[in-house]
Amino acid sequence: MLPVARAESIVLDLVQPLNPQQDTEIVGLDMANNRILATPITSRLDFPHWDNSAMDGYAVRYEDVKDCTINNPVILEIVEEIPAGCQPKKTIQLGQAARIFTGAMMPEGADTIIIQENTQREANRVKILSSPQLGEFVRYRGSFYRAGTPMLQPGIMLEAADIAVLAMAQCTELTVYRRPRVAILSTGDELVSPEQPLKPGQIVDSNQYALASFVTSNGGIPIKLGIIPDDRQQLKTVIASAIKSADLVLSTGGVSVGDYDYVEQILAELGGEIPISSVAIKPGKPLTVAKFQNNCLYFGIPGNPVSALVSCWRFVQPALKKLSGLKDNWQPIFIKARSRNELRSGGKRETYLWGKLSLVDGVYEFALPSGSHSSGNLINLSQTNGLAVIPVGQTSIAVGEEVVVMQVS
Ligand code: AMP
Ligand code: MG
Repeated sequence: MLPVARAESIVLDLVQPLNPQQDTEIVGLDMANNRILATPITSRLDFPHWDNSAMDGYAVRYEDVKDCTINNPVILEIVEEIPAGCQPKKTIQLGQAARIFTGAMMPEGADTIIIQENTQREANRVKILSSPQLGEFVRYRGSFYRAGTPMLQPGIMLEAADIAVLAMAQCTELTVYRRPRVAILSTGDELVSPEQPLKPGQIVDSNQYALASFVTSNGGIPIKLGIIPDDRQQLKTVIASAIKSADLVLSTGGVSVGDYDYVEQILAELGGEIPISSVAIKPGKPLTVAKFQNNCLYFGIPGNPVSALVSCWRFVQPALKKLSGLKDNWQPIFIKARSRNELRSGGKRETYLWGKLSLVDGVYEFALPSGSHSSGNLINLSQTNGLAVIPVGQTSIAVGEEVVVMQVS
């Protein structure tokens, strides 16, 4: 059994990210949210494009106002009013000022803004009541960004702020990585799809839905291949075609030591390199990972519904993130929390207990859900957002003690 951290690093090493030259598509800005940028973005323009005012007030020459105080004000003549969006027409001379508004272009001759709170308006003149710093409240051309330098780097996931930057740079079409294609199949003679009536001994294939949701949430395209019975030949045919057509294949079930657990043998027969066939993790020990020559990565995931999702969160998610072109932050986030319950483990495998992470008076707390903590029990996994991790060698964490919790999202 491989330690969890070792299995994670093997998985990440096996992933060959999508190719930034070939595995891309062009999308409009409206469709770019949560996509991963594949090329650098630069602009031909400086930002700001010109010197402008950061406040409503008066554009002045610093030398006119540098010594003024409330008891020794300076009076300047207002020669122009400059709203945002207008081009100033006059050059400010000694003794002059322009009325100016936030975002408006600085007029020639002026170098400093006096905020209107520090002034008194008298018809076409303004009394300056305090001395500013030179250049105060001026946003200089190019002070945020210099034309031609990198603005956004490839490998980032585009979120609201990035989308705003792209709009600002007038980048209405951009190159993003295509979404990874992830084939999903469920193995097991006992499985039926949710719309079918249940006969004795049968259960609904929930994993197919769980994994498709997981894949979609992580930017992939789920390709649902359905339920495959525990029939060696049929399973082999489906797995072989999945490997040919997808970037990643996720199957659930059939990786334990039961008589009908064929997945690992089939992967070997199909020429897969199998660096992982069990991991010292609970739940999810029989995880099987294979790599094929065409770069397809195969995760044979245990069938128990909770084990299946824990395996996805712990191992598939980092792989999918790296595959998708994200340049970093592939691994899960771990947070220290105070446990509200006693947490138990057998001590031999790294144990993941699902529950709720919440912030209470500035401190994270972790609480187990009510109900059975069994890897077959999906019910109380619902609406949890964390997995408390009990390391190998430790058998319990007492109420109130610190526990490391893996954030699940
Ligand atoms: P296996 O890994 O095939 O031994 O399955 C372990 C347990 O998970 C068994 O109780 C299965 O019935 C259950 N199981 C397997 N596949 C699924 C699935 N797709 N959806 C829900 N439960 C499953
Ligand atoms: Mg099975």
